[in-house]
Amino acid sequence: MQRLWDRHMALATFGALDQGGVNRPAFSPIDAQARLRVIDWGARIGLLASLDSIGNLFLRRPGTRPELAPVFTGSHLDTQPTGGKFDGAYGVLAGLEMLETFHDAGCETLRDIVLVIWANEEGSRFAPTTMGSSVFAASLSLAQALQAQDEHGERLSEVLPTFLDAHGPLPVALDLIPFAYVEAHIEQGPVLEAEQRALGIVTGIQGLRWFEIEVCGQEAHAGTTPKAARADALHTAVNLAHALFEYFDGIGDEVRFTIGRWRTEPGSPNTVPGRVKFTIDLRHQKAESLAAFSQAIEDRCQAYRGVCEVTIAQLSESPPIEFSESVQHLLDQSAQVWGVPRMVLISGATHDAKWLNAMTPSGMLFVPCEHGISHNQRENTKREDLAAGAQVLAESILRLARQAN
Ligand SMILES: [Zn+2]
Repeated sequence: MQRLWDRHMALATFGALDQGGVNRPAFSPIDAQARLRVIDWGARIGLLASLDSIGNLFLRRPGTRPELAPVFTGSHLDTQPTGGKFDGAYGVLAGLEMLETFHDAGCETLRDIVLVIWANEEGSRFAPTTMGSSVFAASLSLAQALQAQDEHGERLSEVLPTFLDAHGPLPVALDLIPFAYVEAHIEQGPVLEAEQRALGIVTGIQGLRWFEIEVCGQEAHAGTTPKAARADALHTAVNLAHALFEYFDGIGDEVRFTIGRWRTEPGSPNTVPGRVKFTIDLRHQKAESLAAFSQAIEDRCQAYRGVCEVTIAQLSESPPIEFSESVQHLLDQSAQVWGVPRMVLISGATHDAKWLNAMTPSGMLFVPCEHGISHNQRENTKREDLAAGAQVLAESILRLARQAN
């Protein structure tokens, strides 16, 4: 229990922030340094490291039947700009803890077990999110991913070679289809804590759509331009945003609506804003509802067209997914073996497991996080909950890795 906790604290020194959080941008030097630490921990128990062309890092523990497809577990080490110590890191370190326990116990498996550190899960500098796992699952091509640009116009293709080199000379990862994938993660929400359960068995992931709304008016002098002559983009944008909030506030909690980025141009105190751009993150667990709510957003954009032009663009879409029932059942059995209080729940956040689910039976387990706070420097989890999740992960992976077919 102590080792798992200490490793979280050790990894959190890579990109440490003042208030206890972590800033470890994907593909940055600090991201590579954190990975080198994990490679080093893995090397002590004989894990074999390899790297693929988008920067997914694989640490393999050989089984006795190398011809069988390997069992995968893992998560990510990149963080939000003001992220916490556990988001992503937990899935990697729980997997490492499991492999160390197997090593110490001299525990053999038929199948290889591979601990994966997926590249760029957060997508906060280079969109989309879960980039590495979506390239691995071939739902995004490497060429497309390399075209991604950050807000300063720098392309991923310019940044990635340095990041890959920073790992030192590693073999190129083989293109494999895993036998199964199980990912451990903090819940990033308040349900498990409220229900006093140490473990969540995740049934699926909410669908997600991202939109960008652009409101165009006309820049004008703040002192000399009368009301009637103004095409104030901010005024229209605020009214539209207000209408959207009112609409979504009137609907139950099963729909999640967020305006997370807001830009006003030219951003000068004495110029009437000529342009406002803002983003919408919309989530729901049913595909039909997601489509209906998207239409409601478009209708409101339409209604606010007038003095200013209002356009809406869908930036990305990710349909709702359901995890493998056999993996959910396995997690439940494993939790029962270890007497871990559990419940089923749906994930509000997107995870790499979504893409793996498209290629192999996949599932996730959640551990509680304090007050449900995540993507925040104060993110925290109890060490006994981290340990219980790692134990259930280990039990489940062991059963999978000992299955011949
Ligand atoms: Zn995460």
